[in-house]
Amino acid sequence: LVSRDNHPDRSTVRVGGVPIGPATVTLIAGPCAVETPQQTLEAALMAKAAGATLLRGGAFKPRTSPYAFQGLGEEGLRILADVREETGLPIVTEVVDAQDVELVASYADMLQVGTRNAQNFALLQAVGAAGKPVMLKRGMNATIEEWLMAAEYIAQRGNLDIVLCERGIRTFETATRNTLDVSAVPVAQRLSHLPVIVDPSHSGGRRDLVLPLTRAAIAVGADGVIIDVHPQPELALCDGPQALVDGDLEELAGVLRELPPLLGKA
Ligand code: PEP
Repeated sequence: LVSRDNHPDRSTVRVGGVPIGPATVTLIAGPCAVETPQQTLEAALMAKAAGATLLRGGAFKPRTSPYAFQGLGEEGLRILADVREETGLPIVTEVVDAQDVELVASYADMLQVGTRNAQNFALLQAVGAAGKPVMLKRGMNATIEEWLMAAEYIAQRGNLDIVLCERGIRTFETATRNTLDVSAVPVAQRLSHLPVIVDPSHSGGRRDLVLPLTRAAIAVGADGVIIDVHPQPELALCDGPQALVDGDLEELAGVLRELPPLLGKA
């Protein structure tokens, strides 16, 4: 279902009216985690000013350590919905448990499946049946074939509104959190008709790498990028070191203005 063999044209997925696909480079930005109404609104306004058309923000956070901030749960979803009301930005938010899919889908415009759940087949089937577009991150240990098969689980439930997200894979390298697999973008786009975006924040894990990796993503033809921003990263409860701040966002907006037309994307 997700293969390009029977579907030669590349697809565009619409999230609350916002297109992600071959004709554009969509910027999705926002806080890694929803912490407070004020922090979320400030991050959303920063994101919007930089050209973001979709807001990201985690209410359910899948953390490596059980002692790390796990997210605000439904309270976080309510904050996101309020911020959508205020900014007009549709929301992308992660769901980590099949039992929560209905709840998260009742607030979200797009459901995110994270790298740690990329082969949680019960969750993939549940999001496939939820009637909302899905962003499927690549498992950090998954081959491109396994990633596409994970997408197939969602598609099998009747949902073809799937966006693939390359977010770095585990390699021997320790200088970055994960290694951004830039080849995965054109490879996945040749094998599948689904849009492919890149997460330069979670792959590098470092603020100073977000812009270079964004340039790389656009250069290889990514259909969008998803980026962490935070009004005060030093106080962030989750992944502060990778969040962009106000000054960086101007530069990001410049990259997104200049690079896509240069490289043949609208
Ligand atoms: C995220 O985008 O909030 C996230 C946790 O990303 P990943 O699943 O890629 O680590």
